[in-house]
Amino acid sequence: MLQDKITQYSQEINEFTPTSAADVEQFRLRFLVSKGIVKSLFDEFKSVSPEEKRTLGKVLNDFKQLAELKFSEAQEQFAASAAKAERTADDLTLPGVGFQLGSRHPLSLVRKEIVEIFKKLGFIVAEGPEIEDDWHNFSALNFPPEHPARDMQDTFFVEKKDGNDIALRTHTSSVQVRLMEMGKPPFRAIMPGRVYRNEAISARAHCFFHQVEGLYVDEGVSFADLKQTLYHFVQELYGEGTKVRFRPSYFPFTEPSAEMDISCTICKGEGCQLCKYSGWVEILGCGMVDPNVLENCGIDSKKYTGFAFGMGIERITNLKYEIRDLRLFSENDVRFLSQFETEII
Ligand SMILES: [Zn+2]
Repeated sequence: MLQDKITQYSQEINEFTPTSAADVEQFRLRFLVSKGIVKSLFDEFKSVSPEEKRTLGKVLNDFKQLAELKFSEAQEQFAASAAKAERTADDLTLPGVGFQLGSRHPLSLVRKEIVEIFKKLGFIVAEGPEIEDDWHNFSALNFPPEHPARDMQDTFFVEKKDGNDIALRTHTSSVQVRLMEMGKPPFRAIMPGRVYRNEAISARAHCFFHQVEGLYVDEGVSFADLKQTLYHFVQELYGEGTKVRFRPSYFPFTEPSAEMDISCTICKGEGCQLCKYSGWVEILGCGMVDPNVLENCGIDSKKYTGFAFGMGIERITNLKYEIRDLRLFSENDVRFLSQFETEII
């Protein structure tokens, strides 16, 4: 009798396959609570004969264990899905969570600012390829064949060809050549872009960086135009009252050439670590386009003159935001990048 019941319920338990957490609860209420089947069978056990007790005692205990095991397995199976259901049961009437906006890369911000200033002066934006041939990167720009920039130590060559090697451009001046070859003066353009040099990476040097090149070619363009244009640029970028000075320099593609300094943006000329206590920091190189370069590009150097300038965007950005390590620009560290202006387009 008791044995028959145990056999019957054991079968029921073995065949039990819950399809929901509610089934599991039903199982618990049927078998395991104080008025459940397990308890009632134990009650019944009390009244069986001593002989039967000997054999049925173990059978009944096994039955109890079977019911408990089945329950804990079923409970585990539905615990995970119950938690999941709880998570998705959001209150859909609550206001939505907005998207978190990223921020512009500091180099993009500064490049945009530089481009905007020159656009107002009538400069157009021109671009050129990053993989250049020898003519556009060196020869047309008046680099003599023995110039050290043509050395493997300074330039990443892609392909060595007799007389016209292919390399990653070392400056954006190559775009000047392409621009002048394509049309006739007047030219008034700025050329932002990435350039490559074969240098060891450190806080102060990198194997790639960004430049903005500027070119103005027309009849009667003079060094005074160059100075005034750059003076205006500096006032716009660093604020009214920023002083400039020009120091004579040498570049193969300009004659005369100069480097331009501005009064230190940190100490305002008083002297600090950034300006090495001189009160001045160099920001760009410039000069009158060498007549040879004009002729190389098919422009009559007797009729036309022009000025050109070039600056590193990293340098300008470092001064603007007081960044001391060039590597930060390319490490993609969100802690660094998120400090810059978020722009909604
Ligand atoms: Zn200073």
